[in-house]
Amino acid sequence: MNVLKFGGTSVSSKISLQNMRHILRSYDLEQEPVLVVVSALKGITNELLSLLDALETGGPTYKEVLERIVNRHDDFVNFLFETELENSKAIVKEIEKAFRVKVAALAEKGRVTDADYDEILSFGELFSANIITCYLQSYGLDFRFKDARGLIITDDNHKNARVNWEQTAKAIRTFFVANPGNFVITGFIGATETGSTTTLGRGGSDYTATILGTVLGANSVTKWTDVNGIMTADPNKVPKAHSLTNISFDELKNLSKFGSNVLVHPESIGQLSKNNIPFVIRNTFNRNFRGTQVINGDRSAQKALSLHQACSIISFEKEWNLPKNFTKEIIDKDYLFFRIKTSSNDGRSYYVVADECIHFFTPGTGTGVSGAQFSEMIRKVVIEKRNIALITITSQSMDKKQELIRINEVLSQEGIPVVGFRMFFNSISLIFDKGNFKEVLELLHNCLLTTDLTTDVVV
Ligand code: ASP
Ligand code: MG
Repeated sequence: MNVLKFGGTSVSSKISLQNMRHILRSYDLEQEPVLVVVSALKGITNELLSLLDALETGGPTYKEVLERIVNRHDDFVNFLFETELENSKAIVKEIEKAFRVKVAALAEKGRVTDADYDEILSFGELFSANIITCYLQSYGLDFRFKDARGLIITDDNHKNARVNWEQTAKAIRTFFVANPGNFVITGFIGATETGSTTTLGRGGSDYTATILGTVLGANSVTKWTDVNGIMTADPNKVPKAHSLTNISFDELKNLSKFGSNVLVHPESIGQLSKNNIPFVIRNTFNRNFRGTQVINGDRSAQKALSLHQACSIISFEKEWNLPKNFTKEIIDKDYLFFRIKTSSNDGRSYYVVADECIHFFTPGTGTGVSGAQFSEMIRKVVIEKRNIALITITSQSMDKKQELIRINEVLSQEGIPVVGFRMFFNSISLIFDKGNFKEVLELLHNCLLTTDLTTDVVV
C-alpha cells in the first residue's frame, strides 16, 4: 500500500491533475492500493478563514466571500470535466448546499465557536476530495471518495486537535479491511468520538497522510508538492541551491527547527521515523524528478543550510542560572533557545533566543516564574544583540570540528566576523550580524556544498 498526499497547488490546475493521473498510473492499482490524501484547492482554506472573519464581524460582507468560494469550485468543475459533467456537478452541488446551510446558520447565530470554525474549514477538503475523485473516475481510474472524519479520531481541542491513536488505528484498519481498493481521502480533518468535526492544524494534510501510512504500514508516504524536494538552501536566497537526494528524519527535524522552510507538518515525521516508513517529497510539476527521500539513519555526505532571521542574544553571569521552571517552559514550548560559544572572555554565558520568546526576558509579561524570581531575572539578563542571523549547517555525517575550521578560514579571508557558534549532534549553528547574512549564506553554500557533491550517496 502507498500513500500519496497532494497539496493545494497540486490539485488546483488541469496540468497538475494530468500529472496526478500519470503518477497514479505508474502504480499497479489493482494489485496494490493507493490512498490519495488531498488538501483544499490552493488558497481556499484562507478564503474560508476570511469567511469566518466576516461572519464574526457581522453584516452582509460574508455573502461576497461565500459566493467567491462557491464559484471557485463551480468554475473548476466546469473547466475540468468534458464528460460526466452532470454527475460531478451534482456531487459538488450537494456539498455546496450543506455549506450554504451551515454558513446561513452561523450568520443567523452571529457567533462562531471553535467547533464551527473546524466545520467551516472542513468544506475546503470536502470539495477538493470529491472533485478529484470524480475527475479520476472520469478517466477510468478506480478511486472512491472517503471522508477522513470516519478515520481520524481526535480529542475535542478544535482548530488543533490531537489524534487518539488507538481509536484512529482501529477505525482505519476496520475500514480498509472491509473496503479494499484505492481511495481519495480528505486531508486535514478528523472528528471526535461523538462525531464533531475537528482539524489538525494548518498544513495538517501531511499529518493525515502519515497517520494512514503509519497505521497501514505503507511502503512509503509521498508528499507531492510544487518544489523539487528539500533544498540545500532557500533558492530565493541562494541561486545555486539544489535539491537533496536523501536525508535522515533527524536531519529533517533539525532543518525545520533551525528555520528552513521545509514545509512538513511537525507531527508528521516522528511516527514515520519510528515505523521506518520512508517519506518522499516530490514535485507534481516535475514528476520524473526523484525529489528528496527522508529515511532513518541516512549517511549521505550532503549538507543543507537553514537560516533563522528572528533571533537575539542574551547573556548573564556564568555563576548565575536561569530559573529551572522558566527554562523548562521555553523548552516545552520548543522555542529556539541554546547556549553559544563566543570569543569573549568576560565570565558571562551567552544564549541565542528566538524573537518569539524574547518577551520572556522583558518586564511585564506572563511567564511561569514567580514575581520575585522574575524581577531577579530581569536584573541579571542583558539582551546583548537583537536582529541577528542564525545559519545552521545540517549533516549527520560531517566532521564538525573540521568543518568549523574550514568555515572559519573562509569567513576570515572575507573579513566576516562570527558572533558565536554551537555544535549539535548533526549540525553547526553560526551567528552573524543580520546585515551580512545573504553574502554569508552564498559563501557557506559554495564552500560546504559544491565540494561534497561527488561523495553523495544515493540510496
Ligand atoms: N487546507 C489546510 C491548510 O491549508 C490543510 C493542508 O493543506 O494541509 O492548512
Ligand atoms: Mg545526509
